[in-house]
Amino acid sequence: MNAPTLAMIPQADPGAGYRAQKAEIDAAVQRALESGWYILGREGAAFEQEFAAWLGAGQHAVGCANGTDAIALILRGLGIGPGMTVVTVSHTAVATVAAIEMVGATPLLLDIDPDTYTMDPDELVSVLDHPPPGLPPIKAVIPVHLYGQACDLVPMLAACAARGIPLIEDCAQCHGATLDGRKLGTLGTAAAFSLYPTKNLGALGDGGVLATADADLAGRIGAIRQYGWKERYISAMVGVNSRLDEVQAAILRVKLTALDAGNARRRAIAAAYDAALAGGPIAPPARRPGAEHVFHQYVLRCEGRAAVQAALKAQGVGTGIHYPVPVHLQPAYRDRTPLGPAGCAETARAAEEVLSLPMYPELTDAQVERICAALRGL
Ligand SMILES: *Cc1c(COP(=O)(O)O)cnc(C)c1O
Repeated sequence: MNAPTLAMIPQADPGAGYRAQKAEIDAAVQRALESGWYILGREGAAFEQEFAAWLGAGQHAVGCANGTDAIALILRGLGIGPGMTVVTVSHTAVATVAAIEMVGATPLLLDIDPDTYTMDPDELVSVLDHPPPGLPPIKAVIPVHLYGQACDLVPMLAACAARGIPLIEDCAQCHGATLDGRKLGTLGTAAAFSLYPTKNLGALGDGGVLATADADLAGRIGAIRQYGWKERYISAMVGVNSRLDEVQAAILRVKLTALDAGNARRRAIAAAYDAALAGGPIAPPARRPGAEHVFHQYVLRCEGRAAVQAALKAQGVGTGIHYPVPVHLQPAYRDRTPLGPAGCAETARAAEEVLSLPMYPELTDAQVERICAALRGL
């Protein structure tokens, strides 16, 4: 007789988030469907209000089609386009860089701090003071709060403010995370959130939302997302089509009510993983002082990653790699995307060593214990 095979614990499970709130989500979907109004209506407006209130700090929120568009819409709203450079990192979802090119601007990719995987503020100051020759002028900076934890934002905000350059927070992975007690997404000029199904706040389809305390900028972007209309059928400015639909907005209103509890559950799971790793060969992820992590991902760093991944798989533990190839080494970008003067050595090294454990609020205690047992065995 064969030994019973362990059911694999997937690294991500967006269906579990739906099942956890199924009755409320089903009712919300039905309400949206029966309303007879499917694009930019009451659900979308209510979601924008509720999301802005949840962020606090006098924010205005604008829903849109996805997180990539949220970044691009902010850039358009700020007038950033061809003949301008936008600074970000290579160790990110390709979306961050794609959004910069969508508006016709030139991305400049900096290296990361190897402990927190986020933009190195010293390198940022150095490229702002001494821009690489041959590039158009730097007109915006987009640091990414990766894996659910703040990047080293304070010196970057100061460097940008001193030079009058807008700082756009890429908050696709950090809904609810804080820095010095302040919510990420309220600290820069504007912030972009993805609502992709696996994000900490996820739709059941595509969605995005952006936030800013600048009411004029929010109003401008609200028009740009729909052909630049201020009144129906009359484009006051050049725009695009990037709208959040009513069904997704209704779903997101339900999901938003579970976000804080979901983040607390992610932190509890992370603490269990930390304890299981203590004293072993692989260190738990670094925490930035003053930053509250929301663990979009719980990321280990291991030399010999393939062996660790295989050992976990043999114990029924699924893992992921975020991200296996840095943007500047991907076929569409390599050999043409400018890097900072220091290159991207830490980025390339991280891509070979990062390994993401299962992380979502619906993991059961029994599943977490099984994962911890596998971690203790490494
Ligand atoms: C998911 C993600 C995005 C883009 O979001 P989409 O909704 O998939 O367009 C942008 N930046 C980062 C860091 C992300 O993780």
